[in-house]
Amino acid sequence: MSNGGLLIVISAPSGTGKSTVLKQLKEKYNSVRFSVSATTRKPREGEIEGKSYFFKTEEEFKRLIDDNQLIEWVEYCNNLYGTPRDYVESSLKEGYDIILEVEVEGAANIKKQYPDCVSIFILPPSFGELEARIVGRGTEGRDVIEKRLEKAKKEVTYFYDYDYVVINDDINLSAEKIIKIIEAEKLTVKRNKDILLKLGLVNKE
Ligand code: ADP
Ligand code: 5GP
Repeated sequence: MSNGGLLIVISAPSGTGKSTVLKQLKEKYNSVRFSVSATTRKPREGEIEGKSYFFKTEEEFKRLIDDNQLIEWVEYCNNLYGTPRDYVESSLKEGYDIILEVEVEGAANIKKQYPDCVSIFILPPSFGELEARIVGRGTEGRDVIEKRLEKAKKEVTYFYDYDYVVINDDINLSAEKIIKIIEAEKLTVKRNKDILLKLGLVNKE
């Protein structure tokens, strides 16, 4: 992938603030692309078709799976979520960096298919704060909140499979940390194997 773009996979337990942090990152750092997932979840207030998600019926989603149009997909809290293949693959080929926001199973699946990707896990400062954030967001009923908190307890243990960790106690700082991770990754030797040739510092042989 050294000549293509960088694939960045970001996960966080629901309610950690991932969407908020990534919205901030989008404003600060517009050279990176964002994959838009397909989901059967109903839109939350303020979510926009094609920007937040591609909202699908279960039938439409299953057609995407059958037509091999998703890189990966999962069932999460009774809804289906999946990453559309075309935009990710064409972006990487054209040299664009692209961010995927996925839960832990999807991240593991992507790491298998794209071992060169860089993965980042965003953690909440505590479970108490996580609950306060989900409740504060006001988009889910109590039963869904309980389900997501239960899920969060399992999800945090996947943290060890990731390359980087960011604790989201401050939205701005978290966005800046993610930018630093991306910038540093792009400077690693393994992603710049052909730099000596490009700079003319060595001959072709
Ligand atoms: P996620 O995408 O991880 O499910 P959201 O981005 O929807 O989470 O954030 C959940 C709630 O937490 C939102 O109400 C958001 O405003 C709030 N939030 C996000 N980051 C922080 C932070 N660093 N400090 C306090 N509240 C935050
Ligand atoms: P939410 O309903 O809060 O928007 O998302 C629930 C969870 O699904 C989050 O952890 C989010 O990152 C994850 N998610 C969103 N899109 C995808 C996707 O395409 N694939 C996978 N595996 N997870 C996704």
